[in-house]
Amino acid sequence: MFGGPDSHLARLVDEAGLETKSIPGNRMGLAVNGKVVASGAPETYPLRLPLSPAARLSFIKSGLKLRWAAQGFQRAARRQIGESASAARARELAYRENETFADYLGVMHPEVEAIFRAIAERITAEPHEITAGCGAGLFAVVWDSNLTLARNLIGGSALLPLTLARHLGSRIVTGAAVEEVVPEPTGARIRVRVAGRVRDVSAKYVIAATPAYVTHRIVRGLPADTADALARIPYGPFVCGAVLTGESGPMPWDDVYAIATPGKAFNMLFNHANVLRGSGPREPGGSLMVYGGGDLGRRLLQMTDGQIQEAFLRDLSTILPEVKDVVREVIVHRWEHAIPYIAPGRHRLQPALERSLGNVLLAGDYLGFPEMEVAAVTGLEAARTARGGLAPVEGAQSRVLERVQP
Ligand SMILES: Cc1cc2nc3c(=O)[nH]c(=O)nc-3n(C[C@H](O)[C@H](O)[C@H](O)COP(=O)(O)OP(=O)(O)OC[C@H]3O[C@@H](n4cnc5c(N)ncnc54)[C@H](O)[C@@H]3O)c2cc1C
Repeated sequence: MFGGPDSHLARLVDEAGLETKSIPGNRMGLAVNGKVVASGAPETYPLRLPLSPAARLSFIKSGLKLRWAAQGFQRAARRQIGESASAARARELAYRENETFADYLGVMHPEVEAIFRAIAERITAEPHEITAGCGAGLFAVVWDSNLTLARNLIGGSALLPLTLARHLGSRIVTGAAVEEVVPEPTGARIRVRVAGRVRDVSAKYVIAATPAYVTHRIVRGLPADTADALARIPYGPFVCGAVLTGESGPMPWDDVYAIATPGKAFNMLFNHANVLRGSGPREPGGSLMVYGGGDLGRRLLQMTDGQIQEAFLRDLSTILPEVKDVVREVIVHRWEHAIPYIAPGRHRLQPALERSLGNVLLAGDYLGFPEMEVAAVTGLEAARTARGGLAPVEGAQSRVLERVQP
């Protein structure tokens, strides 16, 4: 999911000549006890799902608390006039950071706890592992389409890095593994392995846009607090199943985008073709995606791809029975370190991560609430700093950079 037209990512998409479209379908569906509710206001779900009276009451109570916290997160995430993006990131990370999401929600009915666990696992962690602010943020990003992630990239998200790589042509090298970055008085030396051969490259600036644990491993000479902060960013696992379907006409899930699926072999089910189902004729075929994160992801990682595929398809057909006849292909993908999550105490690491490190500049989603927008913004900030210290390069394109707000 991508942000709205005001996001930096949208500008990048635009520069790349790509297109995002608003997701028309419901982004907060729930499949519980054999029933899928994926329409209307989420506030009505406790009354429409087949739950016991005690579970309904528990769901209403926790739902209200969450609504309150999500609104607070939205306020915390809003950048003030004249404020730096870095200050806004720090405030967002500090929002309700002194208690875990599980503690904030309090004791819940087991069925309700399973619902919130399934949704927390979207960020690859359990409710007791993330801050209450992080849990609130997960809901905020789908609750309010003005704020956040409500668009899909036509053609699929992977099109963005592929297109950027194509536009950059010979100016970038892909498939190159950096083994170390050694700061030097006037720049840095990078040891890189390309096609099995190790090369040393010198650079005036290095933008380390690798995940925190990789940056910790490859960048030498970091101040102790920065190295420690990088090592302390936790990542959780995801196991995904992409399901290609070959239906020839409309399907019951056409107007749904996302369904949380507590108690299944996956936590979430997405209909990635939903963005194409607005107006106009309904094209044949479709694309569904499921994933399991957090503890469920860890259990899935122990299984073979065949076992995962079988479990995914079995549970998928209990939620969307019509899927059985139309599955054409399933691809299982494993991420052991999929997404960095925000654990209590995380905001105290921020000064060590945002400090100046001379000619080595850090970028990546782990520097804020983990999503593509933070990766894009921190990348642009780093690029602007580097450009400020470099002599202009003839013919270099910097249209996006010029529009980055300080
Ligand atoms: C299943 C899934 C669904 C998601 N859905 C969304 C969503 O809907 N919306 C959203 O905003 N975000 C989503 N995210 C999160 C989003 O993908 C990340 O926040 C974003 O990709 C982070 O970008 P990044 O550049 O910081 O890190 P990455 O995308 O992880 O990029 C780091 C890069 O560093 C490279 N690398 C690692 N080690 C080395 C090395 N030694 N040398 C050279 N290169 C190296 C890696 O190959 C990788 O290309 C999702 C993530 C997953 C896993």
